[in-house]
Amino acid sequence: MRRLIVIGGGIMGMATAIHALEAGLSVKVIERERVGRGATWAAAGMLGAQTELHTGAEVLSFSLQARAYWRDFAHQLETWSGMQTGYRQEGAYRAAMTEASLTALQKLADQHGAVRGRYRWVEDGFPLLPEAKGVLYFPDEGQVDARLTIDAMRQAFIHRGGELFEGENVTGYGRSDGGWQVHTESGNTFTGDQLLAAPGVAGFPGGKEADVHPVKGECLALRPDELPFQETLVTDDVYLVPKADGRIIIGATEQPWDTSRHVRASAVSHLLDQALMLVPALADAVVEVLWSGVRPRHNRGIPEVDEWEEGFFVSIGHYRNGILLSALTGKLLAEWMATGRKPPLMNGFKKEEITS
Ligand SMILES: Cc1cc2nc3c(=O)[nH]c(=O)nc-3n(C[C@H](O)[C@H](O)[C@H](O)COP(=O)(O)OP(=O)(O)OC[C@H]3O[C@@H](n4cnc5c(N)ncnc54)[C@H](O)[C@@H]3O)c2cc1C
Repeated sequence: MRRLIVIGGGIMGMATAIHALEAGLSVKVIERERVGRGATWAAAGMLGAQTELHTGAEVLSFSLQARAYWRDFAHQLETWSGMQTGYRQEGAYRAAMTEASLTALQKLADQHGAVRGRYRWVEDGFPLLPEAKGVLYFPDEGQVDARLTIDAMRQAFIHRGGELFEGENVTGYGRSDGGWQVHTESGNTFTGDQLLAAPGVAGFPGGKEADVHPVKGECLALRPDELPFQETLVTDDVYLVPKADGRIIIGATEQPWDTSRHVRASAVSHLLDQALMLVPALADAVVEVLWSGVRPRHNRGIPEVDEWEEGFFVSIGHYRNGILLSALTGKLLAEWMATGRKPPLMNGFKKEEITS
């Protein structure tokens, strides 16, 4: 049985690890903290293939398939783990609040039309956003609860025979007897035939440069007496994501190269101003929690998922869309590792083919 070692138990590492088990590999995940406490823990959980796509038109078609795959995968995860993922598909609105934003929205609609992503313009005004210059509705957009989901992945991975090593900081790796060895700070060594590096923004331990930089994001959650809407609302400045448990996640700021963990007063003020301007009915909602996280953004704008050398795979730089892209990426990467054949759908994530 082929042995895979995964460095990094974020959503990219765990989604691949679970699929690799299903593909017949024996899998060890090495995580320096606890699974999912990196960028994954901060995510709003949007499966925003159409509203929230910041990775470029090249991966739009992949993103639509990634979103569709979540429907089955969330169900599968819930069955395997006995835990919830918070998956729902309520649709999402993207609103343009300025003329410039409307022009961008029209371009977006054309791109989506070309790859058959369903959308429609909201005619006759939109009650939630009366000031909007134009609003697109995407009926197939969905979401999960990122924290519930990664906890379910952890549980499913262990249940299905994966070996998890938390609190193990990888300090180096290298070739050994045709396979790979991974060394950790505590002095342990793990041996496998294949290696996946999915360290998020931390970069690769002990050597190779990763073309990734940090982009901090700050969020908050409101709890209204009653959800005034069910769909995700997105503008250029803010998103509001109503969750299955009755909260609304409001996010997120963008602070390139900032890896600090605090939440700034100005960020809270900006997010709340934007949210209340869009939905004044939220004025009396309770501010439940504030948090921040650091997104791993690839310097070339598109994530990199590739085999760098024989048996050494990377999955990095998923920026604002890592939750959305994780499940399908993990499935295809596991297929690639198990068969030795690269699925054609992965071609868009190869380093040399990145164009923007
Ligand atoms: C505020 C915010 C909101 C977001 N909202 C969304 C959203 O709505 N939808 C969406 O699709 N995406 C969203 N994202 C993006 C998404 O969270 C990320 O793209 C995704 O979590 C990246 O996953 P990852 O596994 O690459 O990184 P991470 O989750 O950071 O995981 C990397 C893991 O590797 C471990 N690690 C690193 N180095 C080592 C080492 N040397 N040894 C052992 N372990 C190591 C880390 O401890 C960490 O657990 C959001 C991100 C932020 C910050």
